[in-house]
Amino acid sequence: MNKMSTILIKNADIITMNPEKEVFSGVDLLIENGIISKIGSNITNQADITLDAKGKVVMPGFVQTHVHLCQTLFRGLAENRQLLSWLREKIWPLEAAHDENSIYYSSLLGIGELISGGTTTVLDMGTVNHTDKIFEAMLTSGIRAIGGKAMMDSGNNLPENFCENVESSIQESLRLYEKWNGAENGRIGYAFAPRFILSCSDKLFSRLKELSDSLNIKIHTHACENSDEGKEVFRLKGMNEFEYFNKMGLLNKNFLAAHCVWADDNDIKLIKDNNVKVLHCPSSNFKLGSGTLNIVKLLNEGINVSIGADGAPCNNNLDMLQEIRTSALLQNVLNNSGSIDAYKFLEIATIDGAKTLGLDEEIGSIEAGKKADIIILDLKNDFHSWHSDEADIASRIVFSAKSSDVKTVIIDGKIVMKDRELLTVNKETVLNNCKAEIARLLVRVK
Ligand SMILES: [Zn+2]
Repeated sequence: MNKMSTILIKNADIITMNPEKEVFSGVDLLIENGIISKIGSNITNQADITLDAKGKVVMPGFVQTHVHLCQTLFRGLAENRQLLSWLREKIWPLEAAHDENSIYYSSLLGIGELISGGTTTVLDMGTVNHTDKIFEAMLTSGIRAIGGKAMMDSGNNLPENFCENVESSIQESLRLYEKWNGAENGRIGYAFAPRFILSCSDKLFSRLKELSDSLNIKIHTHACENSDEGKEVFRLKGMNEFEYFNKMGLLNKNFLAAHCVWADDNDIKLIKDNNVKVLHCPSSNFKLGSGTLNIVKLLNEGINVSIGADGAPCNNNLDMLQEIRTSALLQNVLNNSGSIDAYKFLEIATIDGAKTLGLDEEIGSIEAGKKADIIILDLKNDFHSWHSDEADIASRIVFSAKSSDVKTVIIDGKIVMKDRELLTVNKETVLNNCKAEIARLLVRVK
């Protein structure tokens, strides 16, 4: 299918997620050259492709701001552990055993699931090696993505081929940045990915500070995920995690911190004062027994929060609708029921994710002039999604919708899933290759 096909979506109920929070009923939407060019009644332009969306809901694609595509192959292989043993004894040895083929199919497996559930943009933290293959999977699948190689140059229990030195880690990151940042007309981007304090030296963080400031590259890392991790950091650095990041001069709008479960009031002040972005991963926090994040507290401070599924072995899926439902249920327990209304969760899942990535001028809402990252949901024709016409549309999506309700997905103006058939990822090929690759990888890991 030609990328530059003109697409006309007819008779849709559109949740725009624009600043005015407009919701339209029974309108048309025109996509030209990958851009949303017109929204209105009875658009009569000729189009290469016309999609009838009568009775369906059209909204911006979901933006997940923390995933690990390289781990998808390891789903179910690291159960019943807390973070540090999960990483050191299971996940790092598995990641270290990747070769180019296994990481490529792991990435496609993850992307297939992401697109099937309506996720159109991800921020990925790769692993130490073979990052080009993750980018190749992003490229061929059509997903919008910011990737980056995980940087690890110090700490305990590092597999042999994870022990980088500062300069080799930086040089490889810069090579990848040069090669991939801005690729495919800006559909692919690059962020530095120092894994977390316990695997990165002061020197590495210092170099990243210089480079991030001079090149305006985002820094994607983990912070305050688990209490034992926090204690190890304190033993090592003599301070809490955000105090450390602050001392290293890293905290600013380009600093994207996954989890923040154990952030205390002082950390939250540092996050707020420096416009740091928080990447909330509720299912992963529950699965690894890490704890709970009260995002109401953060939102009340004006902190931008977005959501990610994290990796398949700590979730164990990459389903955004499950993730926003889990987050919404959690906030009702931690606060009063309805402390955050359902509509805000749709913002967190779309435009706020775009803000995290600095892409909110381009994606995250359905507005003329923005890139066409759009999903079409059918919320009427199944047992679980039946609703009275009186029901609030945002509540229906946050609390009742399933990924199977996402029927069609458009990314960058290109249809990548139509009526639940993936057009850019061959499901059978990917599943068969994943089966073969994990078998070979498990031999290598022993
Ligand atoms: Zn993570």
